[in-house]
Amino acid sequence: MLLTPDRPVAAARPLIDPFARVVSYLRVSVTDRCDFRCVYCMSEHMTFLPKAEVLSLEEIDRVASAFVRRGVRKLRLTGGEPLVRRGIMDLVRSLGRHLATGALDELTLTTNGSQLGRYADELAAAGVRRINVSLDTLDPDKFARITRWGRLAQVQAGIAAAKAAGLRIKINTVALKGVNEDEIETLMAWCADEGHDLTLIETMPLGEVEEDRTDRYLPLSLVRQRLESRWTLDDLPDRTGGPARYVRIRETGLRMGFITPLTHNFCESCNRVRLTATGQLYMCLGQGDSADLRAIVRAHAGDDALDAALDEAISRKPKGHDFVIERRGAAPALARHMSVTGG
Ligand code: SAM
Ligand code: SF4
Repeated sequence: MLLTPDRPVAAARPLIDPFARVVSYLRVSVTDRCDFRCVYCMSEHMTFLPKAEVLSLEEIDRVASAFVRRGVRKLRLTGGEPLVRRGIMDLVRSLGRHLATGALDELTLTTNGSQLGRYADELAAAGVRRINVSLDTLDPDKFARITRWGRLAQVQAGIAAAKAAGLRIKINTVALKGVNEDEIETLMAWCADEGHDLTLIETMPLGEVEEDRTDRYLPLSLVRQRLESRWTLDDLPDRTGGPARYVRIRETGLRMGFITPLTHNFCESCNRVRLTATGQLYMCLGQGDSADLRAIVRAHAGDDALDAALDEAISRKPKGHDFVIERRGAAPALARHMSVTGG
């Protein structure tokens, strides 16, 4: 059983960037591999990283724990698909120790849901309280087309297992023009019935895939406008330091988020950094600058050098990002895939 201390444990030396933003949220990509091949995320024949380049679970624990010591209060494991990494539950349980001490407020993950049937109970036992599950459609054939290798029934069983284990679930749906735009209200109704939150995400130009993403780009401002003709959207003050804005659908009680990295400027309140599967720390999702933490952990047994590297990296956190889907056929704004950086 986890102990919850009365007061949060304060970090000795918080990580504060040049724009006075406190870094309190770390996303960690634990693998670049995945059991799906979503059309907007990966090409069908992805080449994955050699194992030696990927941080070991112990190395991930070491880096994440260094961040926790320096004031990070929320950890999100992502990928690729975090639950296909061998031994992933050892990492989850190990990081869960920071919840028990009160150093960490939240340990969570973003998953495609395929392995939840197997892991939901263990996640709950390790202290995970909420998870994000990516699901773009409730139509089995469309699901197979979008994910290429996924099976909707397996994901739905996984979501049911997570709910039964007591996990709060947020469904993440990428809004795709001509693919699932007609299904958004169906997803809203399903989430409201099931008690899940729902967040819509705009497609982002990350990494080469076969599809031309400008064809699939659906501005959420348009989706919102359409919804407003049928539903009452009450803005919520909830802010997570990220690009999401939240509303409550008055008629159903659904809490709904809109993630609009392309049309909304959210950088002023950015509290997060991202660690790739290879131990590169990206201070901004939309910029190429990174710090090589793998080299540091592999060269030094003690954590002083790692601590110094965190200070140095955070001193380079940029003020904002620079995303544009400029024109049809344009190269992605950033060559790296979401599955490498961690979505
Ligand atoms: N495999 C896990 C999953 O699908 O939830 C975690 C990693 S995945 C890269 C994280 C999120 O990024 C998913 O919700 C996915 O839909 C989203 N994503 C991937 N590529 C994207 C893109 N080009 N634009 C917007 N969202 C994207
Ligand atoms: Fe895999 Fe998630 Fe990317 Fe889909 S979005 S291919 S599930 S990493």
